Amino acid sequence: MIPSVLPTYSRAPLSFETGEGSWLMTADGRRYLDLGAGIAVNALGHANPDLVNALTAQAGKLWHTSNLYEIPNQQALADALVEATFADTVFFTNSGTEAAELAVKMARKHFFEAGQPEKVEIIAFDGSFHGRSSAGIAAAGGDKLTKGFGPLLPGFKHLPFADHDAVAAAITDKTAAIIIEPVQGEGGIRPVPDQCLKGLRDLCDEHGLLLIFDEVQCGVGRTGKLFAHEWAGVTPDIMMVAKGIGGGFPLGAVLATEHAASGMVAGTHGSTYGGNPLACAVGLKVMEIVSDPAFLGEVNRKAGLLRQKLEGLVASHPDVFDSVRGSGLMLGLKCKAVNMDVVNAGYGAKVLVVPAADNVVRLLPPLTISDDEISEAVSRLEKAAGAVENSK
Ligand SMILES: *Cc1c(COP(=O)(O)O)cnc(C)c1O
Repeated sequence: MIPSVLPTYSRAPLSFETGEGSWLMTADGRRYLDLGAGIAVNALGHANPDLVNALTAQAGKLWHTSNLYEIPNQQALADALVEATFADTVFFTNSGTEAAELAVKMARKHFFEAGQPEKVEIIAFDGSFHGRSSAGIAAAGGDKLTKGFGPLLPGFKHLPFADHDAVAAAITDKTAAIIIEPVQGEGGIRPVPDQCLKGLRDLCDEHGLLLIFDEVQCGVGRTGKLFAHEWAGVTPDIMMVAKGIGGGFPLGAVLATEHAASGMVAGTHGSTYGGNPLACAVGLKVMEIVSDPAFLGEVNRKAGLLRQKLEGLVASHPDVFDSVRGSGLMLGLKCKAVNMDVVNAGYGAKVLVVPAADNVVRLLPPLTISDDEISEAVSRLEKAAGAVENSK
């Protein structure tokens, strides 16, 4: 008999009752150190007092009015994002998938309104992930995501990861945009080299294409910059954001330049919940905290500490791990053992990590993780690695 919850997830037999900072607690009092943070969502940890205050203060005033009316804290959050980034304008969604939907629509609409309706094709990369909607799976293109869900939304071309020559060769007069995650998340924590992001920007400038960055997972301080593309010194025309921006409250956004967004006039797109007062109250507080250079400095310092300790972990367990990769507090342990065995052994050692493609174990801790928690996390991972070795 089918379970009452549609069985699309393979869940761990674990549930939690409360959370505090980097910790999750079960009803019977077990404490797990959370290096997954709800897949890079709880960027400021669980039950962060500033976010709880922002949410509950707004909850006592007003939850929802719809976008029929002005929403002052949506305006304030848009202003903050425009102030802090390349963008001139922002549309709010409830998720990363919805942000991907709009990014695709916006790119196509741009060229339609510019009198180039033939420009509909979007170049994407193997191993990418852009959410689970029909546009999102068509954009990512992997068999695991798309099989059985056809006919897929047409117009996507898939190329090998970060292959500049393949991109240059694939551009035609039908090409509208290139979509890429500056650091692939689901694909196994694969940072795109800065040189490659620069090369894509150059190709887009040369051919008049729109560059779309999917920063749903790597954005909002995760890599030690407010947005990951800042490391490469290039900006996109359109950017998708979600996960960390809501700190655990559903919130996403599409950021764009005035040029890229030129087709999106009144009536061309909308969302009932997108940018509602509750989400934006939390998003504003997240932005206020994460965009502080002192906060980002701490993320970078702690990222260095964690990475150094993980290098040690890999060196002392060469049968389990192959290498460390990633950027900032978005790190991956490429495994020699089966990555799920490491994740499962982590449950035994009460440390939560997340699997990714390419046999990688992902570490996406709250950006607020302390030095002591980093040490504790690595000693728990040592224990987990030992358990994997002993089970062989
Ligand atoms: C998680 C993710 C998405 C989808 O976001 P949802 O909020 O799950 O819809 C899209 N792109 C990337 C890079 C992601 O990591």
